Amino acid sequence: MEEIATATHFIDLELENGAHDYHPIPVVLERGEGVYLWDVEGKKYFDFLSAYSAVNQGHCHPRIVNALKNQAETLTLTSRAFHNNKLGAYMQYVTDYFNFERLLPSNTGAEAVEAAIKICRKWGYTVKGIAEEKAEIIVCSQNFHGRTSTIISFSSDPGSKSNFGPHAKGFITIPYNDTESLEAVLETHPNIAGFLVEPIQGEAGVYTPDDDFIKKARTLCTEFNVLLMADEIQTGIGRTGSLLAVCGSCTCEGHCEQQQNYSRPDILILGKAISGGTYPVSAVLCDSEIMDVIQPGQHGSTFGGNPMACSVAMEALEVIRDEKLTQNARRLGNLFRVEIQKYIERSTIVTKVRGRGLLNAIVINDSEESKTAWDICLKLKENGLLAKPTHGNIIRFAPPLVMTEDELKTCIHIITTTLKSFETK
Ligand SMILES: *Cc1c(COP(=O)(O)O)cnc(C)c1O
Repeated sequence: MEEIATATHFIDLELENGAHDYHPIPVVLERGEGVYLWDVEGKKYFDFLSAYSAVNQGHCHPRIVNALKNQAETLTLTSRAFHNNKLGAYMQYVTDYFNFERLLPSNTGAEAVEAAIKICRKWGYTVKGIAEEKAEIIVCSQNFHGRTSTIISFSSDPGSKSNFGPHAKGFITIPYNDTESLEAVLETHPNIAGFLVEPIQGEAGVYTPDDDFIKKARTLCTEFNVLLMADEIQTGIGRTGSLLAVCGSCTCEGHCEQQQNYSRPDILILGKAISGGTYPVSAVLCDSEIMDVIQPGQHGSTFGGNPMACSVAMEALEVIRDEKLTQNARRLGNLFRVEIQKYIERSTIVTKVRGRGLLNAIVINDSEESKTAWDICLKLKENGLLAKPTHGNIIRFAPPLVMTEDELKTCIHIITTTLKSFETK
């Protein structure tokens, strides 16, 4: 008799054989299509996480999967020891798409942040003229930029950081959404090379700053000759209802340098949805004046810029444009917040909804240490919708951008009825 594989079986396999580095919602998924996921028992769910915004284009998008298949049958990896016929086309496509002169290819988000830090520091020494080993980078408290040893050095989350030292030096932390602190540090520290910032802090709980935060930061960075580095790994590529979150309220599709709301970063960091979640792809974009501080032998990655990544990412970005997913995220995001706000007005369990486009979060009326947000997510799962708390009492809602209005309304119904079931507790 063949054993019927249950969720518990798969979960135990992970627990018994894997590092215990995650604490997932207890659901075992085996198939995805568009906004839907199915577990090993055949139950269907709405995905309200989108793999942390990597799957903006929806699960297993046929065009992206086709690009992956075709390239997989042709050429997968050459390394950068040789040229390949996809890399140049990809670089041209993406630099046109986002209006930067150069692209540095890599695989994961953290790796791209690391590369941005290196580029920024080297620019600080060789262009700005900072004395050897003195360059500093300003970061924000509650940031999330990845998990490498340098990046966790400037995390403010003890879990990410403690017992992983000694930590890297050269980072100065300011509060998020605080341009006065930014200005104060810039005025008193002559060796600042860059300011690394998320336009919305996703992992921290979708902290949405004042509308003019990035704009003011842009002005200050220019004034003090410091590079503005935007980590748009989670916020970029349509998620927040504009192509990039630094585009503010601009609705153009990538040609927004004329728009007055666009705060153009000096260095743009992308990952996650640049591949539609089918393949690890990340990138650093900037103009040649900055990028050209990197010369052969000074940075690299065996898989970076491989033909699979290039083919998949071009198709994934094309899908964003062709299906007008940015515009859809904007429209549905507005609808979502209006409807959830209506619910909140008579709710004792939710205190707040915030976000932009389809990157949103609700704040649960309980302490950071409470289990309520987790329990709500378990109930949401029972009711056919998958989401996960970010921090303690905050639940992020980030469905794939291919969602329809009717589907969203169904989801809002699931969310509000689930929340209501916690009201009297
Ligand atoms: C996910 C994320 C990263 C890290 O990306 P990985 O691919 O997990 O290394 C960095 N910055 C932000 C803002 C992210 O959301």
